[in-house]
Amino acid sequence: MLDSAPLALRVPLLQARSHSDSIFNEKKYFPVDAIETSRGCRFNCSFCTQRQVYKEITYRPIDEIIDEIKNTKYKYIFILSTDSDYLLNLCNKQVQYLTISPAQSTSAWGHFRKMLDSAPLALRVPLLQARSHSDIFFTDDNFGNDKNRTNELLEKLVPLKKKYMVHLSVNFLIDEEFIRLLKKSGCLAIGIGFESIDSESLKSLNKICNSTDLYFRALKNCVKYDILVNAGFVSGTLADTIESVQKTFEFANSFQFFSYNFFNILPFPKTPIYNRLLSENKLLYERWWLMDNVNFYDIPLYYTDNIKAEEMTKIGKHYWQELFYLKNIFKRFILSEYRLKTRIFILLINLYLKYIGRSSTFM
Ligand code: SF4
Repeated sequence: MLDSAPLALRVPLLQARSHSDSIFNEKKYFPVDAIETSRGCRFNCSFCTQRQVYKEITYRPIDEIIDEIKNTKYKYIFILSTDSDYLLNLCNKQVQYLTISPAQSTSAWGHFRKMLDSAPLALRVPLLQARSHSDIFFTDDNFGNDKNRTNELLEKLVPLKKKYMVHLSVNFLIDEEFIRLLKKSGCLAIGIGFESIDSESLKSLNKICNSTDLYFRALKNCVKYDILVNAGFVSGTLADTIESVQKTFEFANSFQFFSYNFFNILPFPKTPIYNRLLSENKLLYERWWLMDNVNFYDIPLYYTDNIKAEEMTKIGKHYWQELFYLKNIFKRFILSEYRLKTRIFILLINLYLKYIGRSSTFM
């Protein structure tokens, strides 16, 4: 919008968005700046809202992004989901912490905010300090839509010495040159939508950027360059069976991810999976997002050929909870190949998420 606006309009527009933390009610949220560099995604996963919201990919000019980053308040940047506003408008406010499946990112952000907000003061300080004030979260759902552009942006980020988190498709992370550049430019953590370890499930999701044999290579590179991974998994795909979800859980539990999302798909309107479930009469509530006072992970929304509605709710919660059993958190810590400092940091984050999970609505 800014880029195409007449010059006279740009300054008031920029001023209108000048940084304000007032909406956070002075709570101690993560000191992080959110930057959006593009909208849309070149893939079309069946459960994702991206293609319904943004028909085409649009990019901001790189120099404009760099200028914005130079003026960020914090050292860290967080590249966050572009679809959060859409989802929040679409659903009632309870969904704020439940918008996991479309792109994972909103949930991560919501979790961190909620985590800090409800944590005892004594625990907030070490977490905040661990981050030192320079974070950016790039909000793009797929930061790597155009690799040449991404490389150019990363090269320009290097001298700014910022720290940031992004969401990337797993296929980018097998390129060691690329991951080296990510590290050099300040990447601390990557959000990856693995979704499933089952190839039939991936096919049913139309997740063509994923292939299970890439997972291990990508994770090896992340360990080598000491980059943390926030992993997203879904259950309840049209091809899932109880066994395939169990296999996906075992994969999730075999690596020390710093954070997890492992939930049933929410069939958002107009997505291919929603349309398919609707046409096959497998949706239990056609307009489920209009229901009041409902945690959508507590009630089944649909069933599939392989999983009954009542089983759907159970698996949706069960595996995420199991990932945070103490025995699993420590098992991952012991087996992890990250350097010791990173392993301890992830251990603390996992324990912290476990603590917050207990008091959240869906754990
Ligand atoms: S790759 Fe990610 S952002 Fe793109 S369509 Fe798939 S789930 Fe959505």
